[in-house]
Parts: sequence; structure tokens; C-alpha cells
Amino acid sequence: MSGRARVVVVGGGVAGLAAARALAARFEVVLLESQDRVGGKLVTAEFRGRPLDVGPDNFITRNDAAVRLCREIGLADELLAPATSRAAVYARGRPRPLPAGLVLGVPTDLRALRRSGVVGTAATLRTALDLVLPRSRATVALAGSLRGGDAGEAYGDPTVHEVLVPRIGRAAVAALVDPLLGGINAGDCSRLSLRASAPQLASAAAGARSVVRALRGRAPATPGPAGAATPAAPLFLGLRGGIESLATGLRRACEQAGVTVRTSCEVTGVELAPTGAGPSWTVRFGGGQVLADGLVLAVPATSAGRLLADAAPEIALECATISYSGVATVTLAWPEASVPRALARLLDPAPDAPGDHPALPGSGVLVPRATGGIVTAATFTSTKWPRSARPGEVVVRVSAGCDGDGRALELDDGELVDAVRAELAALLGITDAPLDRLVWRWPASFPQYESGHLARSARIAALAGALPGLALAGAAYDGIGIPACIAGGERAGASVGGRIGR
Ligand SMILES: Cc1cc2nc3c(=O)[nH]c(=O)nc-3n(C[C@H](O)[C@H](O)[C@H](O)COP(=O)(O)OP(=O)(O)OC[C@H]3O[C@@H](n4cnc5c(N)ncnc54)[C@H](O)[C@@H]3O)c2cc1C
Repeated sequence: MSGRARVVVVGGGVAGLAAARALAARFEVVLLESQDRVGGKLVTAEFRGRPLDVGPDNFITRNDAAVRLCREIGLADELLAPATSRAAVYARGRPRPLPAGLVLGVPTDLRALRRSGVVGTAATLRTALDLVLPRSRATVALAGSLRGGDAGEAYGDPTVHEVLVPRIGRAAVAALVDPLLGGINAGDCSRLSLRASAPQLASAAAGARSVVRALRGRAPATPGPAGAATPAAPLFLGLRGGIESLATGLRRACEQAGVTVRTSCEVTGVELAPTGAGPSWTVRFGGGQVLADGLVLAVPATSAGRLLADAAPEIALECATISYSGVATVTLAWPEASVPRALARLLDPAPDAPGDHPALPGSGVLVPRATGGIVTAATFTSTKWPRSARPGEVVVRVSAGCDGDGRALELDDGELVDAVRAELAALLGITDAPLDRLVWRWPASFPQYESGHLARSARIAALAGALPGLALAGAAYDGIGIPACIAGGERAGASVGGRIGR
């Protein structure tokens, strides 16, 4: 080994790349990635000659880790706001624009909720009851668990449903919270921990008598009309060439800083040396091994668990209890004329300039579980990202499947496209055969932050911190969004760097 301590980063997703970059100035860094490319879930494919994000297509800016990193690695000019942020939800027989004032699906403007027609009068009144009902047991438990930090486990870790159903009613939760918050996580809100999956919502709701009132003022400003300039900074940003340019930019920055990046290199085992002089870790991969003073495992928890089975069985056991859900994205293109004219009026009942708005107004339609289909959301990619569509065509990217519903991933490509087309015909009225299709499968790709997740994540970090130079990073632990994964990768790098110190 050279004079500098060596750190091996396993996993070249955004978390691993961020960790490697954070370590590069002080250490010899080797990044090992099993696929023939870096980026993990960050994939930009080509569809009809245009860049198309088949996984994530943007990131939130409220956590500034991704924007900051893009600026640091020279991608500032590549940042691109979606052309619209207005979305709709399929409710009571047709797509309807989301009411203003939602915070992750929780309505804070009850007049807007009533006007939207997303739920009926009785359900709106039930939501309004939140304003007068006494404090609920779950919000009190939530406050206790937040006060107690990791030790707050004693108060339980209420699920999204346990906190919100008693406050705003089952109908509003099913129509709005499940498709929004559940959709982001491909999860089941009756199992997801509110604290882990929606920390801002949890801190506002904790101990509050009225959740609706506590969240007022936290709702993003009502989006302006599609295409209109919005004075506030965009809540989400993508990248001009597609989200994968973040991964390629990061790889370039890592290599310029001296990181050795090896792709098509699957790590098959890690061994911890007996305490004493010399490197702590032996990292094995097909046909070789590398010794390391520090080790960042930036792989899904299932992989991390397998790799640590011998060296750290307690961590392996904790990792094995994190479950994953899978989805497929199915992208379809049609000529604009295939979209029924009536649909635009449903999606945008009051256009600024009639006749001059897109065939598919808004960023897309969320689909609640109650519809019984496999489609959970249809993104109007051609409207949200005009660069991804040819003029005169519409592109719709459908997400199918979620926790507890593996039907989409069981179908072959032809069956999946047929099922999605049949559902889109019912949801949007588009019945023509598409010009093109692209199926992308994401099995076991969304870690499920179920009740107890934060305590488990803290135990994993503590166990790793007790071993020489080890840290775990990535979507499995402290946030599944791209900014959270970047921040987690950087934290893992700092933790390992601080402990091996040379
Ligand atoms: C369909 C979809 C849509 C999404 N949409 C959004 C969105 O719009 N906005 C947003 O912020 N987030 C979104 N996400 C979530 C976000 O993309 C991910 O949580 C994040 O990219 C995960 O990064 P990661 O580095 O933790 O893991 P990954 O990207 O999974 O990277 C892990 C890497 O480790 C490698 N690996 C695994 N095992 C080994 C091994 N044994 N040896 C070597 N390498 C190994 C894998 O090949 C992979 O490259 C979406 C995710 C999906 C699937």
C-alpha cells in the first residue's frame, strides 16, 4: 500500500460516488461497482432519440445536498426545472387536479379540498373534524418518540395511517396521502413509519392537536400555470441531459480527484483482520482482492447483509430485516391526436390560454390503490420534460407495482404493456396503439421504512461505528431521495475518514 490509508467503497450508486468523492482528498480510494456503469438507480435511457429518465427524474431542493453537489462538480448550468409541477389524482371516476395546500397529501386548505372534488362532502367534513377533535394518542406517541431520539422507541413508532387516519379520516388518506407519500416510497402507508418516511410531517404533527393546522404554512406555494415563470426557487430540479449526468459527472469528479473506479467488479465478500497492525479489511471480488483501512458499503441493505454475514453478523441480521418493494416503469408514446380533447379540460379546467396548452396538461396523474390496478402513477413526461419528446407527440411514463403488489413484475414485457394500456384507456381514455414502448424493471429497489426503521438504522450505524473504519450508506438507511443518499454518502465518508485518520 502507498503511504496514504486506503478506503474501499463498494457500490457506485449516487451514495457510493458521493462517499468516494468526499474521501478522495485525504485517502487512496478504490470504488468497486458490480454493473458495467456507475449510477445505480440513476438511469437515463434513449427513447425515440431523446433522453428519458427511467428511474428518478428529479430531486427535491429543500435538502440542498444534490444542488450543492451539482454546482461543485460543474453541473450548475445543467440544472433544469420541470416545466410544470401541477399534478392530478384519479378520484371518483376521473382525473382531478390536486387541491392547493397539500403537504405530502395532507390537506391544509379545506375549501380547496372541497372544490377539488377529490373526496366527497362527507369525507371533507371528516377531514375538517381534525380541527376540533382532541389530541390523538398517536400524535402524543409521536411527540414522545421524537423527544426520545433513538431511545424514543419506547413510545412506539406510529405508522402514517396510525397518525393520520384518526385525524383527517380514512377517505382523505386513501385519496391523497396514500398515492403521494405511498407513491414516493412505492410503499404501504399502513406499514410505513411516519417519522422515517416523512420527517417534516412527523415533526409538525408531533403533539399537535390539529394536524391540518400544524401543517398550514408548510405547503409549497400553489404552482403557477404550466410554463409560467414562478418567482420562488423550484421545489424540484432535474438535469438537462437526464439524471444520469449526475452519476457521470460524479464519476469524472472522483477520477479527477484520484479515485480508482472499477466497474463490472462485484464484491463477493469482506473479511475483518484480527486487531493489530495492518489494514483492517480484505475485500474480495471475482478473481481478486484488495486490502483496505476503511470500508464504505454503499449497496442495498440486502447486499450489505450478505457481505457482512461473517465479519459482522449483528449488522447482517439488522440489514436482512429491511424489506424492499419493486416497480416497473413503462413508457409509451402517441401522436398528440391520440389524447382525447376532453382530458385536457379535466386536467386543466381553467387554462390561461385556451387552445394553447399541452395535450396533456400538468406533470401527471397519481392513481390510488383503491382502483385495484397495477398503475400507481402516470407521469406526463412530454409536458414535464419537453426535451424527452418529439414535437407533436406525447410521452407518458407509467409506474406500476408497489409494496404488497408484485403483479407488474410477474408479467412479461408484452403482458405488462397490455395491462398498462388497458388501465390507461380506463384512466385517461387513450385507446390508440402507442408508437413506441420502453419497459424498465426495478425489482427490490425501494427500501421500506417500516415502523421501527429509524431505531434499526441507528443500531446499524452504531454497530458499524464500533468496527474499524466501517460505515454503511445509501437509500436503505436515512432517506431514499437522491439528496438524502448524497448526504448519507458524504457522512459515511467523513465517519470513516475521521476514524482511520491517516
Ligand atoms: C423507479 C425509481 C424512481 C425514483 N424516483 C426518484 C426521484 O424522482 N427522486 C429521487 O430523489 N429519488 C428517486 N428514487 C430513489 C433514488 O433514485 C434512490 O433511492 C437512490 O438513487 C439510491 O442510491 P444508492 O446509491 O443508495 O443505491 P443504488 O443506486 O441502488 O446503488 C447501489 C449500487 O451498488 C451496486 N452493488 C450492489 N451490490 C454490489 C456488490 N456486491 N459489489 C459491487 N457493487 C454492488 C449496484 O449495482 C448499484 O450500482 C427513485 C428510485 C426508483 C427505483
